[in-house]
Parts: sequence; C-alpha cells; structure tokens
Amino acid sequence: MAKHIFVIGGVLSSLGKGIASASIGLLLKKMGYNVVMQKLDPYLNVDPGTMSPFQHGEVFVTDDGAETDLDLGHYERFIGKPLNKNSNATSGQIYDTVLKKERRGDYLGKTVQVIPHVTNEIKRLIRKMDDDNDFVITEIGGTVGDIESQPFLEAIRQFRMENGRENSMFIFLTYVPLIRSAGELKTKPTQHATYKLREIGIQPDILLCRSEEYFNDEIRNKIALFTNVDKDHVINAVDVPCIYEVPRVYIKANLPALICKHFNVYRYEIDFRDWDTFLNNIKNPEKKVKIAVCGKYVKHQDAYKSVGEALIHAAAHQKLDLTINWVDSEKNHTEAMIKEQLQDADGILIPGGFGVRGIEGKIAIAKFARENKIPFFGICLGMQIAVIEFAQNVCGLENAYSTEFDEGCKNPVIDLMNDQHYIDMMGGSMRLGAFPCQLKPQSLAAKVYKKENISERHRHRYEFNNQYRDILEENGMQISGTSPDDLLVEIVELPDHPFYLAVQFHPEFKSRPDLPHPIFSEFLRASVENQTKK
Ligand code: GLN
Repeated sequence: MAKHIFVIGGVLSSLGKGIASASIGLLLKKMGYNVVMQKLDPYLNVDPGTMSPFQHGEVFVTDDGAETDLDLGHYERFIGKPLNKNSNATSGQIYDTVLKKERRGDYLGKTVQVIPHVTNEIKRLIRKMDDDNDFVITEIGGTVGDIESQPFLEAIRQFRMENGRENSMFIFLTYVPLIRSAGELKTKPTQHATYKLREIGIQPDILLCRSEEYFNDEIRNKIALFTNVDKDHVINAVDVPCIYEVPRVYIKANLPALICKHFNVYRYEIDFRDWDTFLNNIKNPEKKVKIAVCGKYVKHQDAYKSVGEALIHAAAHQKLDLTINWVDSEKNHTEAMIKEQLQDADGILIPGGFGVRGIEGKIAIAKFARENKIPFFGICLGMQIAVIEFAQNVCGLENAYSTEFDEGCKNPVIDLMNDQHYIDMMGGSMRLGAFPCQLKPQSLAAKVYKKENISERHRHRYEFNNQYRDILEENGMQISGTSPDDLLVEIVELPDHPFYLAVQFHPEFKSRPDLPHPIFSEFLRASVENQTKK
C-alpha cells in the first residue's frame, strides 16, 4: 500500500497549496520514491473545463484529455511525470458518480447520504491512486471552514482511521500575517484555523506556515503550543521570490526527514544538482530578453500559467533575464497602439483563448510580427489568428475569419469539423488530450523538434479548414505539421521570416524546469538574435 500525504489549507486561499504539494512531491521523487499526485476540488462543476479563465485561471490538459485544475500543471512540472484523469476530481464529478449509481439501483434501496456514500466515493478515488506508487499526495482544494470541503475532510479523517497513522500524514498550510502597524507576525489566524480542523477530528502532523518574514522561536513555540503540533514540525514556509525555490526552503527546514520519520521509510540523499543549476541560472542571467504575450486574459495571468512557466524554463536554460510584457489585445487594437506596445518586444507570443473579444487586436499583432520580421509564436487560438491574418492580408481573401467569431463569414479559414457541428454539451466535448503529429522534413518545426513524429496536447473545437490549404500554401505559408492521416493541420510557419511558427496544440503543458520545450527554447533563441538586428 502507498503512503498517503494530505495537504490541507487554512486561513485563506492563494497561499500556494499547489506549489507546496508539488514541492513535497519533488523532494520525495528526488529521494528516489515513486510519487503520484491528486487534487480534490470541492466545487460542483464536473471539471474546470467550463469555468472562465478570468475566475479560475488556466485549464490544464492531461495526455488522456482530462480538463483539470491548473495545480496539475505544477505537479507535472515539479515531479516531471505526466498525470491522468485520476489526478483531479471535483464534488460535481463525485456527486455525478454517486447519483448515477443511485439511479442504477446499486445502493439496493438504502438512503443515499453524504456520509457514507459521498465520503466512500472520495476514499475510493484516493485509494485508486495507490498502484505501484510509494507515495500519493492528495491536495484538498479550498480552505478549512468551507461548507463544500467538509465531505473531503471527513473522508480523509476516516481514511486515517482505516489505514493508520503510519500510512497517512496531514500537512496543514496556514498563514502568519505581518501586521505592519504593530511590526509583528501574528499567530492567531493559524491557531484558529487549526482549532477548526481539530473540530472535525483532524490533528495536523505538520504545519507549513507561510509568512512574509522569517519567524523566531517565540512564534514557533506559540504556534506549537496552541495547535498541538510538535515544535520541530512547525515549518516556516517563508516567502521566496520564485516558486521553484520552495523545495529548497523545505529542505532547509528538515521536511524530508520529518516525512521519512513519520512513515518510517528510509531517508535517501536528495540529489538536487539539476534543480540547483536551474535555480542558479534564473538568478544569474547573462542576457536580457523581452517577450510580449498578447491575449485578453492578461490581467489574470493565471489564465496563461503554463505559458509563463514554459517561458521561464526556456529562459533559464539559456541564462536569459526574461521580461514578459502582458499586452491586452482588447485594448490594443489599432496599428499605432500596437506599434507603441510592441516596439521593444524581441518576440511576440499569442496564446490560446476563446471568444471574439480581443480578436481584431490579435490579428493586427500577428500582422505586425509578420511584416516586421519579429519572432512569432502562436499557440492554439494564436495559430488560428496567424492563419486568419495571412488569409486576409496576404491571400486577399475577403472576410477570412473563423466561424467561432462570425458564423456566416465568407471565407471560413478556421471552421468546425463535422463531428463538432452537433455538440449539445459544452463540457468535455472539444478535441482534448494528446494527438500524434507528423512534421515536414526540413521545416522549421522539424528543426526545432529534431524529429519528425511528435505528440502534443490539444484543447480546442475549431480547426484549420482544409479547403484553404492550397491557396495559403501558394501564397507562402507552409503547413509543416499535420495529423498522420493528413486530415488535420497542426502547424503552420512562414519560411520567409526569421521565426514564425504557430501550432494548433498546447506545447506549454509539456515544458519542465529541467526539460524546457523545444519550441519555447528556439523561440527565445530567435528572439535574442532579433535584438542584434534592431
Ligand atoms: N477558441 C479556439 C477553438 O476552440 C481556440 C482554443 C484554444 O486556444 N485553446 O478552437
């Protein structure tokens, strides 16, 4: 049986429970243990696929096509392992399963209740992760005290009763605020959050206390005394400038040893050399690079989480001091505005997105990048924009557009495929997950990937309309990646440009700190080269 670590949050949200969980995962992995991670979200949406990026941030997609919480992106990036649909469940999904069982008559006439039917389903999902893993880390979304979280907390309380203390651990993430007027760090919110947790029968084994500044022994003693947690188990998770430094903070605080001791497992040496090289590179850049990321969700950068992280990984490997200029494509839509916003960008990236807002700005931005020979990287909607812009301005196709934005447009260069015409349920009905793609030999794409067969993750409904292949190619746009049956266009590029590559998939989901994605790497290389031409 695997050992289970549960990460719970208190005091307030946004304390970085996902990063904390992912960092613990990394430490165990670096000790040589097999680790898998899971997030249980208390909201009622069946998955985050139908939730607005403005509210919920990015929807992360796994190889098997699950639309998941963005924390799964952190998990994959830290533990370096692809996860699947089992790694994310919501109350909505759990209730859906329970209600379907009820309709089938599986409960044999019993009254179906939150306890035990919902809690049993939660425990089943947790146990399902065991397989041949040494450790399962389960993050419980939300904050203790939320009504929605209660079935989850009850389920993990029961889990410990059934599996024993030596097989389960509760790690509680709290906050110790600095009250500036008093110049003091305050422990009361942590005390109260822990009371709340104990009220439902959970005594944390370890506290991870976030704070702006390091706290002293007096504070640690106070927290230990009032929370009933050993002093050594009260860890000061002090703020760090970069999320990838969090595991180092935990090593310094002796967390790996505490975990191994609790579970009575061998404490292997942690080999942190490659992670440290990555951190050192971030801290000691040799050159600057400025990338404009242009989209409509830029005020909520969580919406582009994986894109931002993928840029950071690629920049670190080339020792680049990366500045991301988030450009709002809705506000910046005239040529003059775009020129002003983008004139000092070394490279331009248009990420994925949905809906018509900000589209004209994106089309104008793609035109600016093409005409001024600025390295350009389009992702998903960014690729569709590149195609629309080229069709309109180079091929002269009147009213070339996507039917997503204008159903009756004269030249639908981006359109629905047959199987998408009859969709009546929005959730889970896009082209989702990993699909193979064949690259054209000698193309920029093949040079970037250094191979000709790749697999990348998708999340979109619209596709390049094959009727326009010939006209676009005749005018100089190269189709350099397609599905193996050649029916779906996956990559387009402009050979007559220093770097102009646009992809229908989301390469950002597969970038790792120790293994940056080749497109991001080459895009940055081209962007640095572009500086010399200015
Ligand atoms: N809105 C576009 C589509 O559904 C692009 C989606 C995306 O960028 N992820 O096809």
